[in-house]
Amino acid sequence: MKPWRALPSDPVCRVFAVVGITLGMSSWGFVPHRHLHAKAWASLPLELRLALGNDPTPLVARATDADSRKHTDSLEAARHYFDLDDAHAEGLELWGKPWSDAQQLLQQADSSASVRRLGMLAWQLEWSYWRLVKAWAPSDSSDPDLNEIVRAAADLGHYLGDAHVPLHTSGNYDGQRTGQRGIHALWETHAVEWLLSRPELPACPPRDAVLANYDPVWTPWEIILESHAMVPKVLAAERTWQSMCNRDGHGFRRRGRTMQLAPTSASLAVWDSLTHGHTWPRYCLASQRIAAAWHSAWVDAGAPRAPRLPRASWREQLALYLPQRWADWLLRHSSKP
Ligand SMILES: [Zn+2]
Repeated sequence: MKPWRALPSDPVCRVFAVVGITLGMSSWGFVPHRHLHAKAWASLPLELRLALGNDPTPLVARATDADSRKHTDSLEAARHYFDLDDAHAEGLELWGKPWSDAQQLLQQADSSASVRRLGMLAWQLEWSYWRLVKAWAPSDSSDPDLNEIVRAAADLGHYLGDAHVPLHTSGNYDGQRTGQRGIHALWETHAVEWLLSRPELPACPPRDAVLANYDPVWTPWEIILESHAMVPKVLAAERTWQSMCNRDGHGFRRRGRTMQLAPTSASLAVWDSLTHGHTWPRYCLASQRIAAAWHSAWVDAGAPRAPRLPRASWREQLALYLPQRWADWLLRHSSKP
């Protein structure tokens, strides 16, 4: 018997009778992306934490920078996905190809279309990895810039998180081709936020970042294959979920300052059952791979120590304890003899 059959179908879904979902398509969502980075940080060895500034706050805060850039950079969106099914539909074998070869194949297949049309995720992950290595070990031998290290690590973690989401590897990314709109946010945002709110959430299986293998070229392609293999199951589960919960499975929920229509806790429990609980292990794996990628990049950079921060002057230290107006006055006069 399938696990979901054990659930009573009647009261489970009839919580609110409202229509539709208002959340649009993004990636894991702000809360899960930040939580992923925090979780990855927690598993890092001390030396690596020091090399990242010994403070997870900026790294976690920047976990969603890549999504925010989509509003200002027209090239950004394609960095978050790779449509493996559409590549196959075009007869393109791009898996594992270097970008220069892939570009050629994409151009030959359709010279009028953009070479970025299927997404850039696998190549972006490789480039983001080397950007982090370079941030730790600048090629001009200048001092590493901690801000650049944190920015590069946060972006690498973000794209890795996206690669673990099945629907980031399909042209049918929001079920728009199969009449299943809303499935993107259901999988990666609603289901994950529901899981994170559960007190009885199991701990992720331990995986030592130091021992985990991460290859900057091949691991991203392998992750994309794994994610893509999950797509048919996700689509099938959503069809069953819709037939069980339909419109009764949604209700208004507070998100920040607004009320939004979202699946209810009861219907998300059904969803988790229908997907055989695959979201949480996938989420754990994402956080572990983020930690492994940071660690591997750090080793490739020569395992540098923490970047030296400029030592604060006595005026700057004192300013921390003063009211803003006095602190400003003190710092304004700091350059005077
Ligand atoms: Zn994203």
